[in-house]
Amino acid sequence: MPHDPVPALISRATELLEAEFAALPAFETNPSPSFEPEAMAHVLEAAAHRLGDNYPYFHPLYAGQMLKPPHPVARAAYALAMSINPNNHALDGGRASSEMEIEAVHEIAGMFGWTEYLGHLTSSGTMANLEALWVSGLLAPGKRIVGSEQAHYTHQRISAVLKVDYSGILVDGHGRMSMEALEVELRKGDVGTVVATLGTTAIGAVDPLDQILALRARYGFRVHVDGAYGGYFCLIPESLDEPARLAYASIDQADSIVVDPHKHGLQPYGCGCVLFRDPAVGRFYKHDSPYTYFTSKRLHLGEISLECSRAGAAAVALWTTQKLLPLVPGGEFARGLAKGLAAALELDRRLRLDKAGRFEPLTAGAPELDIVVWKLKAGTLERASQLAQEAFEACATRDLHLALVQLPHSWFAPDGHVVNGVEATLVTCLRSVLMKPEHEAWLDRIWERLSAACADAVEK
Ligand SMILES: *Cc1c(COP(=O)(O)O)cnc(C)c1O
Repeated sequence: MPHDPVPALISRATELLEAEFAALPAFETNPSPSFEPEAMAHVLEAAAHRLGDNYPYFHPLYAGQMLKPPHPVARAAYALAMSINPNNHALDGGRASSEMEIEAVHEIAGMFGWTEYLGHLTSSGTMANLEALWVSGLLAPGKRIVGSEQAHYTHQRISAVLKVDYSGILVDGHGRMSMEALEVELRKGDVGTVVATLGTTAIGAVDPLDQILALRARYGFRVHVDGAYGGYFCLIPESLDEPARLAYASIDQADSIVVDPHKHGLQPYGCGCVLFRDPAVGRFYKHDSPYTYFTSKRLHLGEISLECSRAGAAAVALWTTQKLLPLVPGGEFARGLAKGLAAALELDRRLRLDKAGRFEPLTAGAPELDIVVWKLKAGTLERASQLAQEAFEACATRDLHLALVQLPHSWFAPDGHVVNGVEATLVTCLRSVLMKPEHEAWLDRIWERLSAACADAVEK
């Protein structure tokens, strides 16, 4: 592991924080045996030992699932805030951290081109999507929510919780929502909300938001953008291919947007964000809590959030990170996203050019964002799936950690025609999310290991 700057950062900032409360009379913490440094160190050592049983998510050779290490300053800010442990439910619980949340969310909204909106942080993308679909359901009672068959699996579950009907829309060979299939559903007249996924979880496909918005003008429905994974890519339009660029360029026309700072935004877990274009939807949250809201007439975030307690530390970490790395095109944060995308394009290129011809990348072409998926060539689908599993394991023995994903086999068919995701045969593929800026510099080393591991798997 590289030298960790976080402990030194925390101890410097903690001194300053302690000085803020220096006027209080000194007090001893609970003198019980459980507060003895030796006793605490002992159990912490046990915890450190247990944590070794993880994939090394922080390392560039971890290139599997959607896991990006938090920025050191985010970890330091989160830990600093833990000595206060504010609760952003209400100003009573987290006065400073609530203000920091409002400021941090303002910058995220600004990234999408919004200055007036209603929004706040949530504990996850799922909770953020739940809020957005809850509001959608209230605004279109009795109508359906639809999303592509590659939309995140939680949309269906959320709709069931909300008791709103949900249907999946077919995708094309690029993994994007089929506009023909969407229009068939719209003609039935009962679609209240369309979920557009900007960056699907499996392959990073970008639904054609611009075309969905054109249909909205004709049929009238709400558009919710699920950018939990892909939302931040609006910062690097110059690196995107045209269909994705057009989709991101119209994101400000959505009715609601979700983005996960704990995915691409360098934050520790516990940080999602939901935004509504019309601040008036705040009326749906109205409630009277008898025991909070005593000290301030200002808006409490708890009045516009479904969740009650929320980690103030998450807001402090996000605020601090965005001070260091503003969400602006051309900035260091944006350049980091572009590096991951460049790594994904390079891996895809090498897979296509592989001299031994061992791989079948997507027929549709290069990845839209920073996720690469590919199939191993074999005589049968069963064998291809088995080879992917074996290659996955052979990579892991070389410290290269990839992921597996099941995708419609027709995505690898030469004509890439529209397929029904439910009926299409699935094949197990390898998947790599190259979301760390370091992945670009590590691509040779990733490729070497992948190539050797696949040679083993094929020869076995
Ligand atoms: C990860 C993800 C979610 C769920 O977000 P969590 O923060 O894991 O709850 C929703 N939608 C998309 C597109 C995602 O990638």
